[in-house]
Amino acid sequence: METVFKTGRPVIGIVEPWAPIENGCFMGAYRTYANYPYVQGILKGNGIPLGLPLVESEEDCMAQASVCDGIILSGGADIDVHLYGEEPRTKQGHFDRKLDLYYIHMIKAARSLGIPILGICRGIQAVNVAFGGTLIQDIPSEVKNAVLHDQDAPPSNPCHFIDIEADSFLGGFMPQRTEVNSFHHQAVAKLGTGLRVTAKSCDGIIEALENTDGSPVIAVQWHPEMMQAGGDPLSEELFRRFVNLCETAR
Ligand code: MN
Repeated sequence: METVFKTGRPVIGIVEPWAPIENGCFMGAYRTYANYPYVQGILKGNGIPLGLPLVESEEDCMAQASVCDGIILSGGADIDVHLYGEEPRTKQGHFDRKLDLYYIHMIKAARSLGIPILGICRGIQAVNVAFGGTLIQDIPSEVKNAVLHDQDAPPSNPCHFIDIEADSFLGGFMPQRTEVNSFHHQAVAKLGTGLRVTAKSCDGIIEALENTDGSPVIAVQWHPEMMQAGGDPLSEELFRRFVNLCETAR
């Protein structure tokens, strides 16, 4: 008996953050969540979105990844600095090692299964740390003459420009100079082994990465899911191309 319903469309797992519930009768209990624009972006790209809640063992991470054709690492809090060999400076924000290890285990699971990865915001930072890189802990206090990377404008509103490498996943459909939104105070510092920079803002902050071999890893520091929710055609195209990549990789 056929027990699995198959559409033929790629299943894209959303690696979810978690946080304590702040009010109501379940206050203090943890809740895993996916912001709906990720779901919408995957649907517009003709994929099937599947939320993935935090699990702790590497075996459970492998089991989650193995039902997916691709995974998206969604945005969230800062990463524990000890995971990249530093001590916290004063502007390090909220962090949670259990969540960081979940992201890192999911990256490793997807890599070992040959499943494409799209890292978004915290996702690009998790990719860089998983590949052995480090992070800028706080752009405003650590980078001179930085542009604004933590915008106080609606999420679909672009904030600063990025310059994109032509021979990259993004360069395949985005203009060399493209406007993106920006909601981060950390960024990639020392690049992880096997990664290359594919976009930067004019202050030198790394805004996109790809891997140099193995199954595709694409990572961006901005939030294309929020821009597609505002109707941005380039962000919709990003999701479409990622879902296509997942389809051809399987
Ligand atoms: Mn930025």
